[in-house]
Amino acid sequence: MDKKIRVTVWNEFRHEIKHEKVKAVYPNGLHTVIGEGLLAAGDFEVQYAWLDKDAEHGLSEEVLSNTDVLIWWGHCAHGEVKDEIVDRVQKHIQQGMGLIVLHSGHFSKIFKRMMGTTCSLKWREAAEKERIWTVESAHPIAQGLPEHFELPHTEMYGERFDIPTPKDVVFITWYEGGEVFRSGVTFERGYGRIFYFAPGHETFPIYYDENIRKVIANAARWAAPRIRKEITCPSVQALEEIKSK
Ligand code: ZN
Repeated sequence: MDKKIRVTVWNEFRHEIKHEKVKAVYPNGLHTVIGEGLLAAGDFEVQYAWLDKDAEHGLSEEVLSNTDVLIWWGHCAHGEVKDEIVDRVQKHIQQGMGLIVLHSGHFSKIFKRMMGTTCSLKWREAAEKERIWTVESAHPIAQGLPEHFELPHTEMYGERFDIPTPKDVVFITWYEGGEVFRSGVTFERGYGRIFYFAPGHETFPIYYDENIRKVIANAARWAAPRIRKEITCPSVQALEEIKSK
């Protein structure tokens, strides 16, 4: 049997503790529900980390060295993530670790760092319907997904999404209120692959949805490292004799 893909699900884990409405949907934290979806797929090993887990937000050098794909959910405490941990995560992505950023993670330090843009967008909390269109059906992240599927209640994230031009736009969302959004986009940075996926507001049971779970599992398979290697900047000897000296 092939080796399992080692996923670390990182959650800010503040809303579920402070807000009853969120706790009712995700009593043990939304990271555990994301993890359950991956475990049900069968080819993942899952561990959890969160902001207050320890002094390093659960993201020690050892944890990241043993992580193939890091999933990131944050919202109200992006500013509390230490810059030295962001530096460390960035280094691991550049060396091959995969990163999946979910929903309000668009404003996380690590996503903004990897994009180099503001990552701003329009938003509205009106519990409206969302229709997600699979626009690249041949993409590995779209495997097994229908041409379109719906979430009955969602938070609207609208264009313009201030990101660099993605490598692939896999999903585009239409919202009941009229906006559209590039809701599933890929990037490559160094040897690492990055996927941003918009659905996942904390008061809606979105991470229990089978289509959403399929997207996250597909993305984790796609983002798993192909190589894991330090990027250096060496001065080198010529392979052939240079005669034009
Ligand atoms: Zn939200």
